[in-house]
Amino acid sequence: MPPAATVAAGHGPDRPPGAAPAELLRRLRARTGGDADPVTHVERVPARPGEQVPWPQWTPEELRAAFARRGVVAPWRHQAEAADLAYAGTHVVVATGTASGKSLAYQLPALATLLADPRATVLYLAPTKALAADQLRAVAGLELDGVRPATYDGDTPRAEREWIRRHSRFVLTNPDMLHHGVLPGHAHWSGFLRRLAYVVVDECHTYRGVFGSHVSHVLRRLRRQCARFGRTPVFLLASATSGDPATAAGRLTGLPVAAVTDDASPRGGVTFALWEPPLLPGDHAPGAGGQAGGAGDLAPVRRSALRETADLLADAVASGVRTLAFVRSRKGAEVVAATARRALDEAVPGLGDRVAAYRAGYLREERRELERALLHGDLLGLASTNALELGVDLVGLDAVLICGWPGTRASLWQQAGRAGRSGDEALAVLVARDDPLDTYLVHHPEALFGRPVEATVLDPANPYVLAPQLACAAAEAPLTPADLDLFGDGAKEAVDSLVAAGALRQRPTGWYWRHRERPEVDLRGEGGAPVCVVEAATGRLLGTVDGGSAHFLVHAGAVHLHQGVSYVVDSLDLDDGCALVHPEEPDWSTHARDVTSLTVASVRSYVDAGPVGLFLGEVDVTSQVVSYQRRRISSGEVIDTRPLDLPARELRTVAVWFTLSPESLAAAGVEPADVPGALHAAEHAAIGLLPLMATCDRWDIGGLSTALHPDTEAPTVFVYDGHPGGAGFAERAYGTAAQWLRATRDAIAECGCEAGCPSCVQSPKCGNGNNPLSKPGALRVLDVVLANLPAPGAAALPRQGDRRAE
Ligand SMILES: [Zn+2]
Ligand SMILES: [Zn+2]
Repeated sequence: MPPAATVAAGHGPDRPPGAAPAELLRRLRARTGGDADPVTHVERVPARPGEQVPWPQWTPEELRAAFARRGVVAPWRHQAEAADLAYAGTHVVVATGTASGKSLAYQLPALATLLADPRATVLYLAPTKALAADQLRAVAGLELDGVRPATYDGDTPRAEREWIRRHSRFVLTNPDMLHHGVLPGHAHWSGFLRRLAYVVVDECHTYRGVFGSHVSHVLRRLRRQCARFGRTPVFLLASATSGDPATAAGRLTGLPVAAVTDDASPRGGVTFALWEPPLLPGDHAPGAGGQAGGAGDLAPVRRSALRETADLLADAVASGVRTLAFVRSRKGAEVVAATARRALDEAVPGLGDRVAAYRAGYLREERRELERALLHGDLLGLASTNALELGVDLVGLDAVLICGWPGTRASLWQQAGRAGRSGDEALAVLVARDDPLDTYLVHHPEALFGRPVEATVLDPANPYVLAPQLACAAAEAPLTPADLDLFGDGAKEAVDSLVAAGALRQRPTGWYWRHRERPEVDLRGEGGAPVCVVEAATGRLLGTVDGGSAHFLVHAGAVHLHQGVSYVVDSLDLDDGCALVHPEEPDWSTHARDVTSLTVASVRSYVDAGPVGLFLGEVDVTSQVVSYQRRRISSGEVIDTRPLDLPARELRTVAVWFTLSPESLAAAGVEPADVPGALHAAEHAAIGLLPLMATCDRWDIGGLSTALHPDTEAPTVFVYDGHPGGAGFAERAYGTAAQWLRATRDAIAECGCEAGCPSCVQSPKCGNGNNPLSKPGALRVLDVVLANLPAPGAAALPRQGDRRAE
């Protein structure tokens, strides 16, 4: 629903007369003295009044009245647009900002249909039970006759399930329940499915990577069951803003989907500053005198984003400005609060008391007390993880500091949106961390304030997802040749492999599941059995880590964050699939390093660009986590590197790679001795920039570079998906290679360091200790690639079957 008109904030006793964003920004800037200006860009995001339009003609009077009782007198234009499309039978995704009222966009056509057709039903899917429960409250609150909304999930008592299946016309559930409960029990759901008018997929951008690929097939299985009853429900999807939501929604559902992206809801004005902490003089670089080896430790570093955020927070508070700082980890938030408090107390004893750190574990009463203190100005500064989103309702903030790129534009705007009291302008500052992507973004405001480029990525053709999903489908009803089209690329091969493995039997009428038990498929499990994280003292299960990342995340000695609480891993038992941990908050973080080798299994598609080749294909990766670094949280200083004894692992996955001829490198001035360092540096930066194009983080991706690879027989840089069968990230990289590598080149070129630093070509997870690395060489390598690659949009050569790379 549309956001209610901004409620006037309470007026505290000592609210400063006017901390206009421009004035505050001037003060923060002045602090840095004569050095280079840390502000790389200031964007004025103007207030937007919002555009209301009349209710669509078909809106029943009863529904208008119900929305009016809730305070909604008319829809915003984007809501009406999406609703009109859906009501006319077009699959539609509405991808607009936080609090732009996406739920009204689907409630309107879905509920209008339920009122007009007393037999119709609606299925609503949310990624979490909590969100489904919220939506249940919203729909039930409209008090519409005969809709009988109900949640149906793992917590629904058995006794109520049959009633819901028979009588509810608006069922709210999640993909896991659809997969484990509804589809296998479709016989019980036939009455519901044969009348299904709409499938609502809320927060659909969360269905990404391997999990998203699974969900895409669960939705195809749902479509298949509906089709058996002659039903073709309309899909209505809601997404955070992202690049190309129509394509992502199309992949998720397997249907053509129209996108509504023009947000017509009102918002307050924000002055948004991008802030790059200055480089420290060389001899002050953390790690310069440290024990840790590795050439990289001598590189210059920037002032840490945490220190910079703490100073900005202190300055803002000293100016009487109500400020919230978002920091990624809880420990980081505490460092920011403590550092700011210390600085304030030095200036004016006692002033430090007006800054606090917010803990995720706060009780409700404590949260209310915090809100009250901020509202009345007893508290002026707060440092928090984004857990704050969950439980605290803060109004009347003047400024928001965002310490490090939060991962997506959706989170960035969500955090920035915390600032601004009624009608007033607010200030938001993004403080860049030592990371290639952060560096790129503070120098490329168009990537933040223009149209988003990061797309939600998933890969329905992943054979590791497709085969088990087809087994589930066959267990629900025999597969027919027509079904293979529904499940898309690779379905025939997957069915053949299931027949060969004895899971399916082919008969003239189709493929039959051969076993009595259903196939066991976990939508969220990936890369082997998940590893349980258990608190040693109590035996309490804290959660699980997927098998693919366990070596990285829960090795002995790793600092493991769980819902904002810090634990240290005592031991990792791979045979039992269990990591024992104890609560502890050391003032360091841990970073695992691995070594990797890779062979090319097949090429799917390639671009022949003279001296440069660009490829997409399957690869076999062998990797071993060999050690981890401990780093001081406050400064990033490397404390030490400790060895680990973990087995090597094999991974069949999808990679993108480019090759360059040795002649082209020589012609570009890369000396043979510099080739390994040039490729290695380009690889690191390319991995760091891929999240700009796809919704992944650098831990989802791996890389390898070599001056001569036996399979390509050329200098080569590989970037691969860290998940069995691939998750769509490498594919997206291949599809946007020119854009992606251009951004990579710019990020390196625009970094002010001389010879490479963590903001450009160094990687926190490098198994070779960031050695060798050549920053100038990387620029030359990328120049050669970009000079030869065809412009974006040019067609790649067709898939080459199982052509072996020679
Ligand atoms: Zn640099
Ligand atoms: Zn490396």
